[in-house]
Amino acid sequence: MKADIVIKNIDKLYTLKGANRARVKEEMKEVGLIENGTLAIEKDRIIYVGEGDLPADIEIDHNTLVIDGRGKTATPGLVDSHTHLVHGGSRENELAMKLKGVKYLDILEAGGGIHSTVNATKNASFDELYNKAKKSLDIMLSFGVTTVEAKSGYGLDDFETEIKQLEVAKKLNEDHPVDIVSTFMGAHAIPPKYKDEPEKFIQMIINEMIPQVAERKLAKFNDVFCEKGVFSIEESKEILEAGLKHGLLPKIHADEIEPLGGAELAAEVGCISADHLVAASEKGIEMMAEKGVVANLLPATSFNLQSGKYAKARTMIEKGVPVALSTDYNPGSCPTENLQLVMSFASLIFRMTPEEVLTAVTINGAAGLDLADEIGSIEVGKKADIVLFDAPNLEYIIYHFGINHTAKVIKAGKLAFEN
Ligand SMILES: [Zn+2]
Repeated sequence: MKADIVIKNIDKLYTLKGANRARVKEEMKEVGLIENGTLAIEKDRIIYVGEGDLPADIEIDHNTLVIDGRGKTATPGLVDSHTHLVHGGSRENELAMKLKGVKYLDILEAGGGIHSTVNATKNASFDELYNKAKKSLDIMLSFGVTTVEAKSGYGLDDFETEIKQLEVAKKLNEDHPVDIVSTFMGAHAIPPKYKDEPEKFIQMIINEMIPQVAERKLAKFNDVFCEKGVFSIEESKEILEAGLKHGLLPKIHADEIEPLGGAELAAEVGCISADHLVAASEKGIEMMAEKGVVANLLPATSFNLQSGKYAKARTMIEKGVPVALSTDYNPGSCPTENLQLVMSFASLIFRMTPEEVLTAVTINGAAGLDLADEIGSIEVGKKADIVLFDAPNLEYIIYHFGINHTAKVIKAGKLAFEN
């Protein structure tokens, strides 16, 4: 075997070696640390991982890129499994209103909130959306993120805009080193036009949108914003089951503000992940543990909303729910692409250990995208997605917060970013 890339003398190599599935409880602390590690890559695959020198049966020549990992930390490529990557406009104008204490619902009524993003996304051309999302994707890559989930949901009843968002994500997935996994989220809010007859909009999602999105293979997942005043438990169930019928795997924005029973519904329907879960009930958490639903927690959103309420990550881990962490990058409640910052927030606010945090942004994030066979750990045969951090160990990355520690990113066996 001939290696295309070799990284040697890696001070701390966190492999996340183990089963190709979401990890729970104590497993979340087992990060497969190798000191003085070496790894080798051929094409887009990992062909060797171990301690000390490269074994004799792996050849290198003048075409092999040899990287020195001395003083550095390596991890699997990070997975950001919940983002609203593709959208038009920004909402910095709401900051002053928020500081004056104007309530979210009043901002919404004044034409702000999600509706202003819906309008901006509708008015943006394909190229404008593409260029804006590409810029964000470049930033994500620079933070060590190699796989990103991207949702539609800023078109709502304007199906053309929903499709435009998904087409932009598809094109970026083809053009950009970062892999994008798409989610259809027509059920992101009730459009003003359907305020008094939401059932009509729901039937449009079920009978027109979902079948077309599935047929055109524009998404892997189907997501719904299950919340008081948005989509009820019954409505969410109907939408998610309709997606399943067409092969779209269910995901859910659950119990972000009110304990509506979204966690319970996620377990009942068999969601791959339930996201937010700030107000999830104990029973819902237990049901998710039993069914192995990934809890995708978004602490930067809670921080940015300044509600003082955070998901009960420790309870979830203790009860056996596999926990993942994501940015929730979006122009309203969480305008940041920085997953390293989310890792620090999770440690300080959720009291997750550095090992649990790393598991949450690698193999458990991969499991939340149904990709744990392919990415999320550094093992022979898996895709060569690797981050090299300019940091002496994992703890340091989390402790020294708010900056970017990335030195190099290898994506699918190619050097995709260098700092
Ligand atoms: Zn979201």
